[in-house]
Amino acid sequence: MKQSNPTHKDTITTSYAERFVSLKRELEALGYFCKGTVLKRMMKCGQKRCACQHDSSMRHGPYFEWTYKAKGKTINIRLQPEEAPVYQKAVDEYRKLKSLLTRMERLSRTAIAPLARKALSNLEKI
Ligand SMILES: [Zn+2]
Repeated sequence: MKQSNPTHKDTITTSYAERFVSLKRELEALGYFCKGTVLKRMMKCGQKRCACQHDSSMRHGPYFEWTYKAKGKTINIRLQPEEAPVYQKAVDEYRKLKSLLTRMERLSRTAIAPLARKALSNLEKI
């Protein structure tokens, strides 16, 4: 027999679905992404008489580096200052992607359980 009013369980299932759709929208809004970190470094030079040798505020730079791991190795790529924000944005997007995937997976796990129980109870009715 069909119920005309949605049950409490149906409402919960709908809200899971709605939350999942909204997370998918956030996923869709992501820009290019890449793994790693963008580092900003101030460096000492090789000249012994340079002020940078003794005064950390006189160090040269900033120099930017994009680092990421590939096959267990850390890769360092020197960036021009103008390139750094582009990589920084992509690195931030990657973090967002990872966080979205984690939230979607957690939500899916919660949403799947009642669906599985429902499938089971349908089976028992036969
Ligand atoms: Zn120096």
